[in-house]
Amino acid sequence: MALAGDHAEGRRIKIRGTVQGVGFRPWVYRLAAREQIRGRVWNDSTGATVEAFGPAPLLDRFVRLLSASAPSAARIESLVCEPIPPEHLERFEIVESRRGAERRLAIPPDIAICGDCLAEIFDPAGRRYRYAFTNCTNCGPRFTITHDIPYDRPATTMARFAMCAACRREYESTADRRFHAEPNACPQCGPSLGILDPNAERAATETDPIRAAARAIAAGRIVAIKGIGGFHLACDATSSAAVRRLRERKRREQKPLAVMVRDLAEAERLAHLTDAETALLLSSERPIVLVRRRAGAQLASEIAPGNPMLGLMLPYSPLHHLILAEVGRPLVMTSGNLSEQPIAYRNDEAIARLGAIADLFVLHDREIVTRCDDSVVRVIAGGPVLMRRSRGYVPRPIALARPFSRPVLACGAQLKNTFCIGVGDEAYLGPHIGDLENLDTFESFEESIARMERFLNVSPEVIAHDLHPDYLSTSYARSRSGPVAIGVQHHHAHVASAMAEHGLSGPVLGLAFDGTGYGSDGYAWGGEFLLADFGGFERIATFRPLALAGGDTAIRNVWRIALAMLDDAFGAAAPLDRFPLFDAIAPRGVAVVRQMIAERLNAPLAHGVGRYFDAFGALVLGVPQAHYEGQVAMRLEWAADPAEVAHYRFAIDRKSWPWQVDLRLAVREAVNDLAQSVSAGVIAARFHNTLVRAAAEVVRAASVSIGRVPVVLTGGCFHNARLTEGIAAALARNFEVYAHRSVPPGDGGIALGQAMVADARARSRGGGPVCA
Ligand SMILES: [Zn+2]
Ligand SMILES: [Zn+2]
Ligand SMILES: [Zn+2]
Repeated sequence: MALAGDHAEGRRIKIRGTVQGVGFRPWVYRLAAREQIRGRVWNDSTGATVEAFGPAPLLDRFVRLLSASAPSAARIESLVCEPIPPEHLERFEIVESRRGAERRLAIPPDIAICGDCLAEIFDPAGRRYRYAFTNCTNCGPRFTITHDIPYDRPATTMARFAMCAACRREYESTADRRFHAEPNACPQCGPSLGILDPNAERAATETDPIRAAARAIAAGRIVAIKGIGGFHLACDATSSAAVRRLRERKRREQKPLAVMVRDLAEAERLAHLTDAETALLLSSERPIVLVRRRAGAQLASEIAPGNPMLGLMLPYSPLHHLILAEVGRPLVMTSGNLSEQPIAYRNDEAIARLGAIADLFVLHDREIVTRCDDSVVRVIAGGPVLMRRSRGYVPRPIALARPFSRPVLACGAQLKNTFCIGVGDEAYLGPHIGDLENLDTFESFEESIARMERFLNVSPEVIAHDLHPDYLSTSYARSRSGPVAIGVQHHHAHVASAMAEHGLSGPVLGLAFDGTGYGSDGYAWGGEFLLADFGGFERIATFRPLALAGGDTAIRNVWRIALAMLDDAFGAAAPLDRFPLFDAIAPRGVAVVRQMIAERLNAPLAHGVGRYFDAFGALVLGVPQAHYEGQVAMRLEWAADPAEVAHYRFAIDRKSWPWQVDLRLAVREAVNDLAQSVSAGVIAARFHNTLVRAAAEVVRAASVSIGRVPVVLTGGCFHNARLTEGIAAALARNFEVYAHRSVPPGDGGIALGQAMVADARARSRGGGPVCA
């Protein structure tokens, strides 16, 4: 038997990755005990460090096992081992965390409750029966309760709760699942629930908050529930009256609402689930998963009017499980905010802002430090595509193929804003902030950036922003003194974001299709084929632009874009009497808009593919208005007949530079189809097929001169499964094609690309201090 001390050697092993708050040190401790290694392990600002002592063969085996069999929630990104002088110790121990100058964010995202903890909260004999704050090293809140690193209890909002003797025993026992579980708590010592009825005269007769919530929900009321990353507004998802009331009070007319169900069996009763969707629903990130609703699913139609998809999620906190078990039906669980405002996350803030919406509040005294909305995922081409990357994913970094030359902050776009901090070979995308259109959201943006900079101990030397002069994120970037501000073209940033995600350094041909982004020439771009690397891009092709009569007004009143598209396609005033779309519009209104388009009066040109979706959707489905961004485009995707393979004719104008994809022939053929009563499903499918054909033809034609470079698909239009899968399939034989997976294709992912481009530009200006 080998004895430590016999020819003992020493190794220092530095581990980087998500290793704090996931039971990593206890696991190292147990491994060391089993392998007869002595020494110590501690958390530090970059991850964890182990000093191990023992005979060389045992040490080598220990290091191998460290990297090969870490706990499930841990992610080891690097493990560096160096020899150190041997020490003669009696045992292996977990020692206090140390703070260093260099910091990496080793805190994991919040993790959904594990099976062991779930069993405990439903065990009447256990001491955590019905306890809403049950957690262990494998599960529980992390990022949202942490205000500093290293991740230890004093750095979280659990600091004010002193552990009772029983909890402390668990926390200190190496054999226990709660060994060093920082948010460990029980009903005796931990946070507790409370209820608040904003209508004082209707005093609650039920004192148990979970039963009170369930009773209120069953009675059709709206309950605000404090969750992990903020408040939800919950109501009975099977009651039309309750859902209608929620929509009215929240001022959210049509945007779909997410539904939380008790378990997978209930999810399967409501929706058709593929294996990939099931895996996402059950994942510890617990996102909202967009799935296909079953015909006859027992849900109020008001949840997602006219929408064959459903945003489903499974419970992720003990409180969710307890309420769902008590109420026994699916719940609408939507962000606790008024439309367009950030999600409420503090008790006082929630009462002030949601008081007019909620009939009852379920509150608790475990504070949330960082608000974090639910993430949203959809399966496209067999794999997940993140549409909103927030709770469960943030702050997990995106590993990069090449390190940043200096710390960079990228401020993102105006809508669906997220920011990004790049340091070393990692990029940290922040939580979903929302649309930067009001003061509350802007404050949330500033706070969130400041906190992430503190976590990472980073002072950005470069700050990247969109070229749009009116974006709040742009003015923020320009107003910060210190870092050098670098403007990055919107679609270049989209392409760079996809490149970074896939470790590509370019050149690539990026298809950046979205609604609107500010072009280098001041026009609205959005149907772009860019030959790009991180340093720059060349605009190879775009779509023939459409006039937006009234600018942003046209984006809400999509009939205006349809009118512009028709008049462009027919070369003059097209006859409108055959289109039901225009029946509801006053003839005078049509005449005025038509004149604006013809004379280019307040009717800027826009190249966005998203605008073609709006125009075709309006025309084919007879929808004059969009209630929210992307609504008409989504409806056109759902309408498309999966079996239809035909497409319309189109032209690629190669005399202009950049080339222009000209869809006027397609518009005329679609109008012809409409006149012959071809179904909307077939026309919608042919429109998609036309875009696929046109995109593939541009790529093939461009490759003649630029060669067969990898193709990346990016921009908000690639939330569309049919478009993404169609283009990928059309190019698969001759090109490497990359679609987004872990970073949203839309503006929620753009900050990563901005950071990459700004760094490349700063680099090309030389190694020294950057000058604007
Ligand atoms: Zn657990
Ligand atoms: Zn306790
Ligand atoms: Zn965009």
